[in-house]
Amino acid sequence: MAGKLPEVGTTIFTVMSRRARELDALNLGQGFPDYDIDPRLTALVSAAMSAGHNQYAPMEGLPALRERIAAKLHASYGLNFDPQDEITITLGATEAIFSAVQAVIGAGDEAIAFDPAYDSYEPAVRLAGGRCVRVPLAQPGFRYDWERVRAALNERTRLILFNSPHNPACTVAGAADLEALAQLIAARDIVVISDEVYEHVVFDGGRHHSVLTHPQLAARSFAVFSFGKTLHATGLRVGYCVAPPALTRELRKVHQFNTFSISHPLQHAVAAYLAEHPDCGADLASFFQAKRDRLRNALDASGFGLPPAQGTYFQLLDFSRFAPRDDMQFAERLLTEARVATIPLSPFYAVPQPLPFVRLCIAKQDRTLDEAAARLNAFAQRLRAA
Ligand code: GLN
Repeated sequence: MAGKLPEVGTTIFTVMSRRARELDALNLGQGFPDYDIDPRLTALVSAAMSAGHNQYAPMEGLPALRERIAAKLHASYGLNFDPQDEITITLGATEAIFSAVQAVIGAGDEAIAFDPAYDSYEPAVRLAGGRCVRVPLAQPGFRYDWERVRAALNERTRLILFNSPHNPACTVAGAADLEALAQLIAARDIVVISDEVYEHVVFDGGRHHSVLTHPQLAARSFAVFSFGKTLHATGLRVGYCVAPPALTRELRKVHQFNTFSISHPLQHAVAAYLAEHPDCGADLASFFQAKRDRLRNALDASGFGLPPAQGTYFQLLDFSRFAPRDDMQFAERLLTEARVATIPLSPFYAVPQPLPFVRLCIAKQDRTLDEAAARLNAFAQRLRAA
């Protein structure tokens, strides 16, 4: 059977993690922490199961958790959202994005995604019967180029897939980006899915500009967040989507047939954790900035280029001084010769490009970062000598 995604294989994240295990390499590829989570969260999960919260949760999410999320959104952005009609608990951010895409896109519709973009966006559009039009981020610096977006719009465009802080570019959109996006969709029948899972990871005193803070955008957006990133526990798979009531209704129509409802004990645990830590997320920027700086300093003399990283828990490595622009091949050499798993950027593009970048995850113990830097420095030295 040809299937609906004939040329799609297993994601680069899964492949790289598998190969890192096989080769016993340091895994700085797939974005997940290698340090322990807060033991209090573990205790709360266990307590939730002991308390008997082991049957189906409500389809739209546990009310107590949605109320905690509303309080968290108020603390972050000074805005009020109705937990009943505007917040839905999803299976991580990936399900929120997938379900929102299915809710919006039908056969023949077009969605705009950027190039590079997170790998799940385009398959979600195609599985809905739509076409994904890719607009390149402008170089240098992977900036949104709103004139190019305007040129890509037509009467079939229904959706723009926006992402900030951006994975994998590590850039942070500004207020002017939100304004440009709002103007583009103003007189058109277009909605936005805004992937904001790294909302708390913005460095150097910058701040995250959520679409929720822009009234015109908030009225037309699905804003997507995740506790996996905020609680250092990517295996939780508890995310949420904030959208106006009319969009939330459409999202839930899909969600109820996609994942139906999300782990009940985990929702109880996260709600209880948020009650105890209403400011969780507030220290993430300084926590990850220290890790970014540690890795950058350790690679300072390596000869690798280190493009600015304004946010997310990644750092790009520019290897153009050492090797031809073939990121798949260079990532393979790093894996087998330096024993460091990274993520090449090609899979984030519609059409593979000759790229000089691989992505490193900084959400690692200091000693993992130090060992990775030592291996990368030694590899760079070998390349220089060759
Ligand atoms: N979000 C993770 C990353 O960018 C990947 C999650 C996954 O493997 N699907 O590394």
